[in-house]
Amino acid sequence: MRVVFLGPPGAGKGTQAKFLQEKCGACQVSTGDILRKAVQDHTPLGKKAAEYLDKGELVPDDVVLDLVAERLRQKDCEKGFILDGFPRTVAQAEGLERILENLGWGLDSVLCLQLPQEVVIRRLSGRRNCRKCGGLYHAAWSPPRRDGVCDQCGGELYQRQDDREETVAARLRVFDAQTAPLAEYYRKKGLLRPINGEGSVEEIRGRVFQALGAKAA
Ligand code: AMP
Repeated sequence: MRVVFLGPPGAGKGTQAKFLQEKCGACQVSTGDILRKAVQDHTPLGKKAAEYLDKGELVPDDVVLDLVAERLRQKDCEKGFILDGFPRTVAQAEGLERILENLGWGLDSVLCLQLPQEVVIRRLSGRRNCRKCGGLYHAAWSPPRRDGVCDQCGGELYQRQDDREETVAARLRVFDAQTAPLAEYYRKKGLLRPINGEGSVEEIRGRVFQALGAKAA
């Protein structure tokens, strides 16, 4: 399986990509996770990326394309991959085509999670992440059993810096201007699978599997 998850921040791409990874064995490649880890570890990539993440802006295309090209060449991606948060611009989508061409691969589908902006804002403001295992929670809809503590690994839950209100508005503007046009790009290629992104995590999971022609159970 070689798929892309498209959709605004907070649409549920990460949550659904994790389900697909568990179910199908393809590996989740989240450029946001890779970049956040690089920033945390103060690597040269992290130093380049930090200011963009803080402002909710996109890291330059060439930086992201290099990191994706390197990631997709790793052994675990031979079983398939789920791109989460990439591509985010038409230039990245074109770059991805070149990367895949070199590897002799093609994309199966582009899953596009669609939902109204007010739902996106509610989701982002309540989102909490685990520092240790990356587990995802929502203060209202999927709270942890113990406040601030991950159910899976006991790690500390935190709110991403860029999920704060002031940065969310910037991220949504960036999505509308630079990422939304990708739906049309992939529609023309016959790869786009629009998915209603409203509802519970399980409902959306069912729609994702349906769009892929697979069983969710
Ligand atoms: P995400 O976790 O996917 O919401 O990404 C968090 C932040 O990482 C974004 O706001 C960007 O600053 C950066 N980022 C992640 N993926 C990309 C990408 N494909 N292109 C450029 N910047 C990205």
